[in-house]
Amino acid sequence: MMVSKSKALFAQAKTLIPGGVNSPVRAFRSVGGEPLFIDRGAGSRLWDVDGNEFIDYVGSWGPLVLGHAHPEVLAALAETMKKGLSFGAPIEMEIELARWINRLVPSMEMVRMVSSGTEATMSAIRVARGFTGRDKIIKFTGCYHGHADYLLVKAGSGATTLGAPDSPGVPEAFAALTLLCQYNNLAAVQEMVESNSGEVAAIIVEPVAGNMGVVAPGPGFLQGLRELCDKEGILLIFDEVMTGFRVSKGGAQELFHVEPDLTTLGKVIGGGMPVGAYGGRRDIMSQVSPAGNIYQAGTLSGNPMAMAAGIATLKVLDRPGFYEDLVQKTTWLKNEMQEALTKKGVPHSITSVGSMFGFYFAKEKVDSYETALKCDAALYGKYFREMLIRGIYMAPSAYEAAFMSAAHSEADLEKTALAFKESLNQIL
Ligand SMILES: *Cc1c(COP(=O)(O)O)cnc(C)c1O
Repeated sequence: MMVSKSKALFAQAKTLIPGGVNSPVRAFRSVGGEPLFIDRGAGSRLWDVDGNEFIDYVGSWGPLVLGHAHPEVLAALAETMKKGLSFGAPIEMEIELARWINRLVPSMEMVRMVSSGTEATMSAIRVARGFTGRDKIIKFTGCYHGHADYLLVKAGSGATTLGAPDSPGVPEAFAALTLLCQYNNLAAVQEMVESNSGEVAAIIVEPVAGNMGVVAPGPGFLQGLRELCDKEGILLIFDEVMTGFRVSKGGAQELFHVEPDLTTLGKVIGGGMPVGAYGGRRDIMSQVSPAGNIYQAGTLSGNPMAMAAGIATLKVLDRPGFYEDLVQKTTWLKNEMQEALTKKGVPHSITSVGSMFGFYFAKEKVDSYETALKCDAALYGKYFREMLIRGIYMAPSAYEAAFMSAAHSEADLEKTALAFKESLNQIL
């Protein structure tokens, strides 16, 4: 595979941008080699600047549930663009997108738009603290909620990939307000809540964890959190930045029948534009400024281009059969991978939820960050490189999810399954 243009660009980028990238995991550090610079995408395909073609399972890390450059999203953007890019004043499309969100995720009675997932979780935590008058929050090891100080504690994703779950620059005093529990360990949460009685504002959780690979919630885990929160006056925040419109139309809360008090969205909601949103119970969201006095603002929040891309995306994914098709394709590929791993006698743990899927080279079943860390990440790196040279673009980290899009064809899936088998043969 020729990558000379990517190599040259990366060398330039490193002199101007830290590590040559604007988000750490893009740098391919944990899988070896250097990142590819992308020229364009269409449907399920991606082309780098050297002209190499890939079937893409990263999908910009989740947003592209329709695939690249979907014609309806592009058309909506082209129309909107003609009228101007930003006003910093209300526009009708903000109501339209809020209405869509409320219809597909009914627990979000009121919603506030922001420009990233990080902003959404930061804001939701502030609202939870303001509403309850409490300071502490509980998060789970390996769950990533963006890069806000008090959330960057054992945070999975790029942080795990680079071996630095905690970051310099996060004051200890901030991190001290973040209490950590193990994912899928309800008893640990109960104990934590008891020993901090009356002090916990919120429990924030990825209802399907997607930033330490893919880890599904065990039976009763989310329900247990809901009951505990109700008993203790704690707000339950589902961070559905990744799972929203991804694991099902109404997100993980629809799939697992558990309603949080607050939900954060991002990724798919922007259809590839920078968007996030947070919302939930009317009595809580009514406390947000200027309706209430919990402050949160944004110059580009509710931006026309972002709203247009979001609305166009939701319109497409709302069509009959959209998720059935997506889930069926994901399940098919996951089964093919599972069968190949089993045939080869490779110890593994594999999961798919909706259109998210992932596997670990691991001897034990992975159900938490602690068990995920026992996987063979070096072997994943070898696997990643074998897939790449066969034209399959998987996440450049053992601790990230893969994403199916509506644009992936049967032929794409068959090609992927074949490349998977060949790659296993190469690395084992
Ligand atoms: C990606 C992600 C975020 C952060 O979103 P950004 O748009 O990258 O700031 C937060 N929470 C979860 C669960 C995510 O997957």
